[in-house]
Amino acid sequence: MEIVDTEKEKREIIQRYRKLLRLAKPILKDDDAKVIKKAFNTSLRAHEGMRRRSGEPYVYHPLAVAQIAAEEIGLGTTSIVAALLHDVVEDTDIHIEEIERDFGHKVAQIIDGLTKISGVFDYGTSQQAENFRKMILTLSDDVRVILIKLADRLHNMRTLDSMPREKQLKIASETIYLYAPLAHRLGLYVIKSELEDLYLKYTDRETYDFIAEKIKETKAARDKFIKDFISPIERELKKANLDFVVKGRPKSIFSIWNKMKKQNIPFEEVYDLFAIRIIVDTSLENEKTACWKVYSIVTDFYKPNPDRLRDWISTPKTNGYESLHTTVMSKSGQWVEVQIRTTRMDEIAEKGYAAHWKYKEHSGAGQSGLERWITKVRELIEQADSSALEFVDDFRQNLFNEEVFVFTPKGELKILPYGATTLDFAFEIHSQIGMHCLGAKVNQKLVPLSYILKNGDQIEILTSSKQRPSEDWLKFVVSSKARTRIKDSLKEEKKKIAAEGKDIVIRKLSQLKMDLNNENLNQLLIHFNIKTPLELYYNVAKGTIDPKDIKKFTEVKELKKQEKKEQTESRTIIQEPSRKVGGTDSNMLLIGDNMDKIDYKLAKCCNPIPGDDVFGFVTVNEGIKIHRTNCPNAIELMSNYGYRVVKAKWTSQKELAFLAGLKITGVDRVGIINDITKVISTELKVNIRSITIDTNDGMFEGNIMLFVHDTKHLDKLIMKLAKVGDVINVRRIDSAN
Ligand code: MN
Repeated sequence: MEIVDTEKEKREIIQRYRKLLRLAKPILKDDDAKVIKKAFNTSLRAHEGMRRRSGEPYVYHPLAVAQIAAEEIGLGTTSIVAALLHDVVEDTDIHIEEIERDFGHKVAQIIDGLTKISGVFDYGTSQQAENFRKMILTLSDDVRVILIKLADRLHNMRTLDSMPREKQLKIASETIYLYAPLAHRLGLYVIKSELEDLYLKYTDRETYDFIAEKIKETKAARDKFIKDFISPIERELKKANLDFVVKGRPKSIFSIWNKMKKQNIPFEEVYDLFAIRIIVDTSLENEKTACWKVYSIVTDFYKPNPDRLRDWISTPKTNGYESLHTTVMSKSGQWVEVQIRTTRMDEIAEKGYAAHWKYKEHSGAGQSGLERWITKVRELIEQADSSALEFVDDFRQNLFNEEVFVFTPKGELKILPYGATTLDFAFEIHSQIGMHCLGAKVNQKLVPLSYILKNGDQIEILTSSKQRPSEDWLKFVVSSKARTRIKDSLKEEKKKIAAEGKDIVIRKLSQLKMDLNNENLNQLLIHFNIKTPLELYYNVAKGTIDPKDIKKFTEVKELKKQEKKEQTESRTIIQEPSRKVGGTDSNMLLIGDNMDKIDYKLAKCCNPIPGDDVFGFVTVNEGIKIHRTNCPNAIELMSNYGYRVVKAKWTSQKELAFLAGLKITGVDRVGIINDITKVISTELKVNIRSITIDTNDGMFEGNIMLFVHDTKHLDKLIMKLAKVGDVINVRRIDSAN
């Protein structure tokens, strides 16, 4: 054990505390400093002797969270006090009543909120979802609870290094699943980007390092480009007597990675690696004029792309974001995004909500977008009759969406998520109008329910009392409100139909002199391979299951047992070839805390091979499944079922082969497929399992599933294939479909 210099540590604690006070100074009033000091002392005493996993004194954590709250989010004294005390009630002997007595009702309420939404993550799926739901509920009580929670999460992500691997994966996944979208929705762009980058760092270190290195390498060239681009504009701006600064920061590592992945392009081809930001300092009355003045100067020098003009000044985004965006053609033939805004707008863009508050008193504008959003969240929570898990899912979907602005026949503005249809609009007006919506007139023209709304559309909904929600409707609504309402209504409908089905089942069973008891019901479910009784009754009522077959059920009851046995056997047989060739030798992986050699299967969604960063996932029926940490399903598995994740590591490999997928694109010419397969099977002696080729307008795209030893082997193959003439791109894919 390391020997701790307690004197040195004490000095360090005091230093960190002083730094916090210094940062908070501009906002301190009256006795604020005293209250913060009291909170610091309480926290220090309560956490005395406790250490973080890294070995540091625990109090570093609340101090850091308070500092993030003050410095990076711009929160005030109440939040700083709450942040300092945020883990006290949960982790120490201090009761919430004492906090209330010493620090007042508001602080106690925030800490109570924080305590309630923490710590439940480890148990089960529904509990965890319930926990998320609780967290979102607190939004409508006091947004500061969420903001401090975000500060807490940010510090935990920054110090994730000292956590064991499976915890890192779980915490990182939760972060990308819920916290980053929340930060985005609250307009905390800087924090959102950092959370996303840290997620990538801890789940896919190689990619993270690769992109970070590329950004560094290209910095000099980028700086020069920005300088050349901006210099004529700068002269004109000065002539116009504008007070301004220019920034040219690259995009976050995570968003570059997303671009590369989505468009399947290398780093070099991400054209909007950075945006140029021109920030003007001007009085509130002159903001709009000043921004458009800058726009006019920029477009005097560079031609704008008319499709890419975004005016978030006249209509701010619902999270409060205001800015003028244009994309212009530079002299070197490269499109460049230019963002124009004022100092005030920039602060809101970076710090979001809190900064927004600071300016709110001046603006005098009515209910801001963010407040409108919080009202909407509250409505959603109050209405939702769905399970917690569904709720969180629907809610998440809404987090990422941008908005579309449309109008009612009377000209009232409604803001809906991007991609919303007439049906979403109908539900937005009123649930009853949604339920009976038949179609709509958009800008006087008749359109169907599924019509996707465009900015500025004016919509008149047509209803019919005979109309009812159907399963299809779920395919074209995007708003949580509409989804929830439709699902609820379908469930009701289904229950009604199922009730009829249940009667039929009971009747049939009684003809066979049997009761509808649990045992029989279970066997019926197994017999028809159906998950829930509701589903069974529903299918019977609908006729998808012939009531006559229920009669047969007793006859096959015995047979079924045998059949089941055979089925499991045949399943292993199917697995066999890939076992032999693919060799899921249980010695290949070490699993769990003790790194045992346990039996496992490789997940088909991402086909891991030795060398990949992997984790184990305990499934209900199929033992442990191994996924890649960058598997498309990983985030959901780890954030929702974190308690089922076990760590897994490859051991030294034998000469075994594993299934992996490649996507090859290139120019279609005679003999190219032959060239490719020759490299694969003749030169590298790799076995191909399947190959599908699509050609289109002189281009071809091939998906090849093949057996390789490990990532090194695969990388070598990718390199060789990339060198085949007319091949443009080769990359690994998760699975064949
Ligand atoms: Mn904490």
